[in-house]
Order: sequence, then C-alpha cells, then structure tokens
Amino acid sequence: MTTSRPDRLPPEHAPVAGFPLNDNELVVGGIPLTRLAARAGRTPFYAYDRKLLTERVAELRGILPSGVMLHYAMKANPMPALVGHMARLVDGLDVASAGELRVALDAGTSAQDISFAGPGKTANELLQAVAAGILVNIESFREVDLLEAASRQLGLAARVAVRVNPDFELKSSGMKMGGGPRPFGVDAEQAPALLGRIRDAGLAFEGFHLFAGSQNLKSEAIIEAQRQSYALALRLAEHAPAPIRNLNLGGGFGIPYFPGEQRLDPSPIAANLAELQADASSRWQGARLVIELGRYLVGEAGIYVCRVLDRKVSRGQVFLVTDGGMHHHLAASGNFGQIIRKNYPVAVGNRMASPGGESATVVGPLCTPLDVLGDKLPLAHARPEDLIVVFQSGAYGASASPQGFLGHPAPLELLV
Ligand SMILES: *Cc1c(COP(=O)(O)O)cnc(C)c1O
Repeated sequence: MTTSRPDRLPPEHAPVAGFPLNDNELVVGGIPLTRLAARAGRTPFYAYDRKLLTERVAELRGILPSGVMLHYAMKANPMPALVGHMARLVDGLDVASAGELRVALDAGTSAQDISFAGPGKTANELLQAVAAGILVNIESFREVDLLEAASRQLGLAARVAVRVNPDFELKSSGMKMGGGPRPFGVDAEQAPALLGRIRDAGLAFEGFHLFAGSQNLKSEAIIEAQRQSYALALRLAEHAPAPIRNLNLGGGFGIPYFPGEQRLDPSPIAANLAELQADASSRWQGARLVIELGRYLVGEAGIYVCRVLDRKVSRGQVFLVTDGGMHHHLAASGNFGQIIRKNYPVAVGNRMASPGGESATVVGPLCTPLDVLGDKLPLAHARPEDLIVVFQSGAYGASASPQGFLGHPAPLELLV
C-alpha cells in the first residue's frame, strides 16, 4: 500500500527521512495520516513510530562496542507506552524525578539499571530512590547528608555516583550543561571532598556521571568531551572510596532540525568509546561505560499533528490558524532554548504530493505573537480541515510545553 521512501521527502527545507508516503499522504506506523487522525478521534496529537524507535536503537547497537551500556534519558519523552517500548530495547533508563522513576519501574526496568540525576532532588525523592535500589547521581553535599539519613532509615546503603561539573565545556553544543559555573553536579575541584563525605557516610559508591551538554551535531566535539570526561574520572578515581563500576559519560547526540544542518555521524564516537571501554576494563574489573541519550533515540520518530481551522491572508501573507501551537509544542515555536527562531520541518500531511506551492505562516490559537509553529514556510496550498505535521517532534514536545497556557485541551499522544 505504501510507496517506498523517496530520496528527498518533502518538506525540503530541512532533513526528514523516516516517514513514507502513500500518494498524497504521510504514513505513520503503516497508517495514512487522515486515517490515523480519525482513529485518534481528535487533533492535535503527537504520534511516535515504534518501528523508527526500534530501528534507531538497532543502528546504534550495530556500531557501539558491546561493553558500552546504552541508556534512554526519559525526560526527552516520558510517555509511559513509549518508555515501555524503549525499556525493552536499551540497557537502562535515566530518570530526573520521582515521577519518572515510577514510570521507569512500571516499565519493568530492573532497579539495577536505573539512574537518577537532577539538581534539586527532595529528601522524599531520595528516600524513594534508595528504597527502589536505583543509582543516585549525587549533585551536592546536601544530597550526601540526605542519602545517609535515607540509608540509615531503610537499613540499605544508597547506591551512588558523583555527578561532576567538569572543568571544560562541550563545544558546539545546543545546550551546555557542564563547564563553568553550573547548578548541575559538583565542581570537579570539590569532588575529592565530596568523595570523602561519601566514604564517611558509608554509601555504596559506584562511579561518576559527566554530562557536558545536549543537541550536538559534531562527532569530534562529542569525542573530545568524552575523552576529557574519561581523563577527569581517572584523576578523581584516586580519591574514590571504591573502584569504579559505572562511568556515565553522558551523551548530547543531536538531531538535525533546521535547514542546512548535517546529520551526526555516530561511528567515530562509537570507535572512541571502544578505546575508552578497553582502557576502563584494564583498570577496573567489570567497569561499564554508559552513554545516556534522549533526543537522538526518540526525536526523529515523532511528529506533531494539528488541524487547520482557518486560512487568512493578511496584507499578502498567508496564515494557517491551527488548533495546535506553542502550548503543545514549545520547541517548534522557538521558545525552548533557541536564540534565533528557526523553522522546524513542517508539511501539510494530507497534501504531500504538492509541497512548496506557497509561502505560509502556521500559527496556533493563542493570543500571543509567540504562538508560531512555522514562519513563511514553503507549503502545499492548505485549507481548513487539512493536517499540519511538525517533524522531529518525538523529544521535548508534549511534556516540555506549557499546556495550561490559555486553557486549551492537552494533545493526545499515540504510539503507533
Ligand atoms: C537532558 C539530559 C539527558 C538527555 O539529553 P538529550 O540531549 O535529550 O540526549 C541526558 N542526561 C542528562 C543528565 C540530562 O539532563
């Protein structure tokens, strides 16, 4: 029923590869878009394609050395059904709250393979983490005190790693999260003292966690950060109360969103990890390197779909007013970390055979000029009832958007 994937899929203003076409329609999980919308019952909705998720993990597995653990960072997309799907494919899950921890445990992931990072963990969250038996990435001296108390209360030594704020930055990263002054982790300079506290508190030390940043498309920059992270962990290991079993080198693998962006090539990163893994194994028996990826695993497998309510022309510019917008998809509106607003790839999902017929601006129903899903895009000529698709929407979509803003209904999320 579906035609094979053309070499160049619309929209041509940004790289989108994953979804086939059936004549005029985009196909998601084997289902033409208008039929999927009918099945959903209402718009707007996010749809995540299981096959694309599975393929992405398989591609990475194909190049990663077998000793390197691949974790899914749930905050990229915490939809329970998707987490359940991912949990069966990856080696572990990284959570950033007790709420995510519940979803991870429900997904059937072993506590052994769950880790918890985040700068403001509450006493209760830490108690839940120790009770669950997961690995806590310690980000401050206060957390050591709280984990010591939780361990005493439960009669169970907390499993811990130290999240280190490194003394370098991840170059060409969309969002820097390490290096310089940061709320995340403890500064490398303070780590020896923190390790001493962990020893005194009798916590079960397992290793280090270094996360330099997010959305990086340059393999050389990621390799450099991983090498520097590894070297820093080696230096700090001298102060550690126990040998390293677990060394989480972060991730930061990006996906292309905007015109001209080149896809990340993960092969050199995998080759570098193989070298680091070999070195780690020679130093600490059974030590495992971990990489934690969110966006790279799920971002390209998801689309956001909304319906055109109105078509207006204002002083020569076409506006497609839809039932979806920044309250569902903050990132596509340009208000989630972008400095200069750029267009995500967008198409009229039921008019794929005639892309780029006109220039149109896609907006939502909110009374704010920020509510733009795409500005002056080359799009097929769209009418009310047509379906607008925003690609690259599987990560930092529904859960990263201000859904309460203006009181419109929440989007549905479908795993197909
Ligand atoms: C956000 C985050 C991730 C996931 O980042 P992506 O860019 O989505 O891969 C991984 N680890 C930590 C500690 C994070 O805060």
